[in-house]
Amino acid sequence: MTTIGHLINGEMSFEAARTQDVYNPSTGEVSKQVALASVTTVEQAISAAEQAFPAWRNTPPAKRAQVMYRFKALLEENAEKICAMIGEEHGKISHDAAGELQRGIENVEYACGAPELLKGEHSRNVGPGIDSWSEFQPLGVVAGITPFNFPAMVPLWMYPMAIVCGNTFVLKPSERDPSSTLYIAQLLEEAGLPKGVINVVNGDKEAVDTLLSDERIKAVSFVGSTPIAEYIYSTANANGKRCQALGGAKNHAIVMPDADMDNAVNQLLGAAFGSSGERCMALSVAVAVGDEAADTLVAKMRHAMEPLKVGAFSNSDNDFGPVITRAHQQKVNGFIDSAEADGAAVVVDGRNPQVEGFDGGFFVGATLIDRVTPEMESYKEEIFGPVLQVVRANSMEEAMQLINDHEYGNGTCIFTRDGEAARYFSDNIQVGMVGINVPLPVPVAYHSFGGWKRSLFGDLHAYGPDAVRFYTKRKTITQRWPSSGVREGVSFAFPS
Ligand code: NAD
Repeated sequence: MTTIGHLINGEMSFEAARTQDVYNPSTGEVSKQVALASVTTVEQAISAAEQAFPAWRNTPPAKRAQVMYRFKALLEENAEKICAMIGEEHGKISHDAAGELQRGIENVEYACGAPELLKGEHSRNVGPGIDSWSEFQPLGVVAGITPFNFPAMVPLWMYPMAIVCGNTFVLKPSERDPSSTLYIAQLLEEAGLPKGVINVVNGDKEAVDTLLSDERIKAVSFVGSTPIAEYIYSTANANGKRCQALGGAKNHAIVMPDADMDNAVNQLLGAAFGSSGERCMALSVAVAVGDEAADTLVAKMRHAMEPLKVGAFSNSDNDFGPVITRAHQQKVNGFIDSAEADGAAVVVDGRNPQVEGFDGGFFVGATLIDRVTPEMESYKEEIFGPVLQVVRANSMEEAMQLINDHEYGNGTCIFTRDGEAARYFSDNIQVGMVGINVPLPVPVAYHSFGGWKRSLFGDLHAYGPDAVRFYTKRKTITQRWPSSGVREGVSFAFPS
């Protein structure tokens, strides 16, 4: 059976005192093994990155960007292969994997603008004959730790920008679906990146903890669940590292009585059930304002959900695939059980769907639950499955209060025809990414991505303009060349 190794200093390494099974979630079978890096292996990767740093730091930004142009072309050439790799280990259908990859490529395109992004700021004559400028210098070796649900896109949120800013990188992908992530990093080397600038170590907590404790790692970008995000953020900070740690979510959509209900239903279908709901921007709660809106929404959703097809990644007619593991399938089913036991109405039940020819797959069908209330476990927790819960509110204020009271604040959306209501909503809602009749308001690559509250620990969001700030240190230089006109005598007063 194939073992997925590590990419260190341009070479594949298969060091593996420990390995872990990698599943094909569509069949439920083990398809590969992944090597779990030891402390020594991670240290080798950090050393490689450290050695590559001085030359890469001094490589002109335009040359660094040229590697990214070639990388983009290679990603496009190999898109089909990458999407198949994602499908086999994650379970995503090819149309969904293609969307994820495209969003990742857009981050590579943004990184191609490095010479422009790193120009800095310049002020002439801040004093007599004195010029001052700020420049962005790289940090050194930086690390990324990524989740299973976007094995191509989330790593591409991180290292293209880190690398064009002049840093070198150690990536620790999810151990559940590591193949596409590793392959994409190999393409970056094929694009001409010098050895050691990108390194990939597969592994688990041991690898992560080594990255968090090694003083050569200057910054850590993390994306994953909130408990781990909080752990990463506090540990990295305690060890003097810069850190941004993006966590989980519970994204609500408010459905106003004046909404175009058919449009809202179409949007909710894709946003709740696409990728089996395993997206941090998935809409998992619809808050209907007024019973009439709720009744209409539930009736239309029930009808629209009838033709939905859950199935293997390999059939692009399917709407969405399996969830990631057997344990996760059971967890999602458990949340549906608990909502039912708490008195909610399971309107469409996706527990244990029959998928012909794929009996062992980790499938959960699209599920709709009505009359969910904020005290229920299924409301409080992130389910991360194809489950849409409907909560009924009496007013827009009450609906907004629910969102503002929730511990997560990643994404949200309002469906309405009322511009005033939409503006009030976007002004006042305590959430980082807001959609107005847009269900998945994932910022484009030239804006930055991040939630509020317990969906993000740190100050700077991921990718886009914030990434330049995150992956660089600002240095401000003030310069004077003494000449006869500006030569000054001694002064003990603070310069003004
Ligand atoms: P996860 O937190 O289980 O794992 C993320 C990474 O952390 C993996 O690389 C994993 O190996 C590592 N890890 C896991 N346990 C660890 C531990 N105890 N110590 C150190 N490292 C550990 O997340 P996941 O299940 O892979 O991904 C799904 C989660 O990610 C969801 O909660 C989802 O909302 C979130 N997510 C958030 C965003 C966002 O932008 N906010 C984007 C994608 C996913």
